[in-house]
Amino acid sequence: MKARADIRDHRRLTEVDRDFIARAERFAEQHIKPNAAKWERQRQPGFPVEVVGAWAESGLLNACVPKSFGGGGASFLAKIGIVEVIARQCIISSFGLVNLLNGPLRLVQNGTEDQRARHLPGLMSGKTIIALCLTEPQSGSDFAGTATRAERIEGGWKLTGRKAWVTHGTIATLGIVYAQTDPSRRGKGIACFLVDLAAKECAMSAPYALEAGSAAGICDLALDGVHVPDRDVLMQPGEAFAKALGSINAARTHVAAMCCGVVGEALAIANRYAHERKAFGQLLIEHQGLRFKLADIASDLEAARQLTYRAADLVESGGDAVSAAAIAKKMAVEMTARTLPECMQVLGANGLKSEYPLARHMLAARIAAFADGTNEIQKDRIGRLIVEG
Ligand SMILES: Cc1cc2nc3c(=O)[nH]c(=O)nc-3n(C[C@H](O)[C@H](O)[C@H](O)COP(=O)(O)OP(=O)(O)OC[C@H]3O[C@@H](n4cnc5c(N)ncnc54)[C@H](O)[C@@H]3O)c2cc1C
Repeated sequence: MKARADIRDHRRLTEVDRDFIARAERFAEQHIKPNAAKWERQRQPGFPVEVVGAWAESGLLNACVPKSFGGGGASFLAKIGIVEVIARQCIISSFGLVNLLNGPLRLVQNGTEDQRARHLPGLMSGKTIIALCLTEPQSGSDFAGTATRAERIEGGWKLTGRKAWVTHGTIATLGIVYAQTDPSRRGKGIACFLVDLAAKECAMSAPYALEAGSAAGICDLALDGVHVPDRDVLMQPGEAFAKALGSINAARTHVAAMCCGVVGEALAIANRYAHERKAFGQLLIEHQGLRFKLADIASDLEAARQLTYRAADLVESGGDAVSAAAIAKKMAVEMTARTLPECMQVLGANGLKSEYPLARHMLAARIAAFADGTNEIQKDRIGRLIVEG
């Protein structure tokens, strides 16, 4: 098997796409690979700002922004490639960086001309760092249960409540905050606001103490009656909920691609090790039982990749990706949980040593099972589609 049969072999990638994926590989080698284990060990609370700066300088921050807005004009497939190659080094970093990459895109897709004029330059230079504030302490999967209140005041809205799991809360300057304008309408009452996180009524908590994922700098955000003018309503009541669900297919496909990236790297490590280590007078790779293990991992990975790229094709072409994205994420997350311990097993006890990233990958990859919809929520979605016919 080719050690790197991944998105880079996708025949529909353009030259522009390939260029951005290659840049992401170089970025990961230079900025993520040498630091990821250290960040995790030291519980680095959020990316160092210089990493965000380097990300912006590499042009990757704007890779998928249309050329008409001054971006790189890369496709969704390229984005999948970017997150996949970064996840090979660190899945948490991939989560964090895709969040940054989504910043300008959210404004391009949903913003008014005035909002774009005010916020796009900062977002595209990396000076403005966006945080997506959707989850709350009492509701994650149940998005319609959003309790943060948006009350009408003259010329705008007053937001009060608490958000949880805010990625990049440690460095974010602009919040995309979902809040309820009318609790009796559940999802239909939810609107989305651009919130200046420097406002005195906004307070980030200390970053969470996490066993994996510290570099994502995740915090709670308290909103204590912050005023948001009408010009900063990003999505009106009645459309925010549907739009958030509309963008979830792309998000689920990213997560599936990250799982493929991390397992691709773990398999490559296991394969290399099996070519160097001997047992019973033979290289590990010469034992058929060991090769069977690698074959199982490679087959699982290939199946998850094909599902991921199929979902990506549907997202890219504007097709109905709901089922494909949910299935790809579910299968990729389950594949990760099965195969990462198997990769580690190939290294025997050495797999536990910090010089190999396998234990780090194993724990960090668990976040894929929660972010952008848990596995149970994917199954719920797939099951509903079956029932609906
Ligand atoms: C690393 C990381 C980064 C994140 N970043 C962000 C971010 O930037 N912004 C943001 O807003 N959120 C973020 N999140 C939060 C994430 O979106 C939530 O974790 C996710 O929505 C799940 O919510 P929950 O963790 O509260 O679980 P809950 O919703 O409380 O679920 C708990 C358990 O119950 C199960 N469950 C819930 N409902 C059902 C059901 N109907 N049927 C069967 N089982 C069910 C779930 O599958 C899960 O196993 C992040 C999470 C992680 C791990």
